[in-house]
Amino acid sequence: MDIEFDRQHIWHPYTSALNPLPCYGVQRTEGVHIHLESGEALIDGMSSWWSTIHGYNHPALTQAAHAQIAQMPHVMFGGLTHEPAINLCKALLDIAPQGLNRVFLADSGSVAVEVAMKMALQYWACQGNQSKHKFVTLRNGYHGDTFNAMSVCDPVTGMHSLFKQVLSQQHFAPAPQTRFDQLWNEDDVQPLAELLERHHHEVAALILEPVVQGAGGMRIYHANYLRRARQLCDQYNVLLIADEIATGFGRTGKLFACEHADISPDILCVGKALTGGMMTLAATLCSEDVAVGVCQGQPGVFMHGPTFMGNPLACAVANASLSILQQGHWQSQVASIEAQLKAQLLPLNKLASVADTRVLGAIGVVECKAPVDVASFQRRCISRGIWVRPFGKLVYIMPPYIINEAQLSQLVEGITFALMD
Ligand code: PMP
Repeated sequence: MDIEFDRQHIWHPYTSALNPLPCYGVQRTEGVHIHLESGEALIDGMSSWWSTIHGYNHPALTQAAHAQIAQMPHVMFGGLTHEPAINLCKALLDIAPQGLNRVFLADSGSVAVEVAMKMALQYWACQGNQSKHKFVTLRNGYHGDTFNAMSVCDPVTGMHSLFKQVLSQQHFAPAPQTRFDQLWNEDDVQPLAELLERHHHEVAALILEPVVQGAGGMRIYHANYLRRARQLCDQYNVLLIADEIATGFGRTGKLFACEHADISPDILCVGKALTGGMMTLAATLCSEDVAVGVCQGQPGVFMHGPTFMGNPLACAVANASLSILQQGHWQSQVASIEAQLKAQLLPLNKLASVADTRVLGAIGVVECKAPVDVASFQRRCISRGIWVRPFGKLVYIMPPYIINEAQLSQLVEGITFALMD
């Protein structure tokens, strides 16, 4: 593999093009393993960024892809439709929180967020309310890397100062402080309540990641915060956008994290694990009220239509992934991962370099006291046969649901070893 060409010419995420972090050549994947060209088999702790929930190369997914590729890999979605998309949208509406009734198929998580934000803006504009053009969101959030998505990412980690001339200015509430398993403290939601009280006349929607804030800090917060956020949105006539791109499809122990609070958003974004991590596909679901609001009055249509909207190949694979989820094994798999992480990963908070540990569902987080040296941490992980990609002070794992007990132990032991540097 010409790694030197890669180093000289190819951008990789979140690293310098001029002096990039090391990149490892992958030859193949199988189950929970990433096989490097250099011969190591690594247990994947990342599920390729929350996506490969059933493991790599799952036969049902590859078979669905092969069958679909032979029949119709792609066709435009304007004026045409097909079974893979129809079946997928039926299945999504079946399992999504109640009240969601329309599906917009997008090609990546960030696009799904753009679509959600645009829907919210158009919803109010079409009702003659031009003043509701801002968003409220939470600090430590992450919603994607395109411009509007970036505008609602945490201002510090989202590098807002760099883009301040062009980024839309949004309203930020402090990140929720009450942890998932702590006693609920009503004061936690007061800053959000005050923000909405003060600014609701100009706010189209509140956008948040339900219960687990991902790439903006890996924070796991109390379900009552989400419940109260829903009530406040109703009280102040503001739409609620739930970004479940990371949390969707069982990761937190519920099919959707909204279920922890028993709420439905007006708009829901999903992606990542939608295709079991095999290819890129995302979706923005909305209520009938939002769809009617967007399409009544002028211009009467929603002006968004990516070239690869509803790509049949991606939809077919997503259908196969949802079928596996519908068999229900994910529930006991995620519960076992959670129990094991609570037993083995939570105690890492006793290490001198560790500030905090937290676990929910198949997510484990080790927050260090100082930023982690990614290159040396990863070298140590690889020497122990595991793949983990830290960022900032955070070492976190969200393994494929099929990981077994011994593999998960190896993952936690490898992290422990890497942290002892
Ligand atoms: N929202 C959340 C909560 C995410 O975790 C991500 C991806 N890390 C995105 C949006 C953006 O998705 P994508 O990378 O597919 O554009």
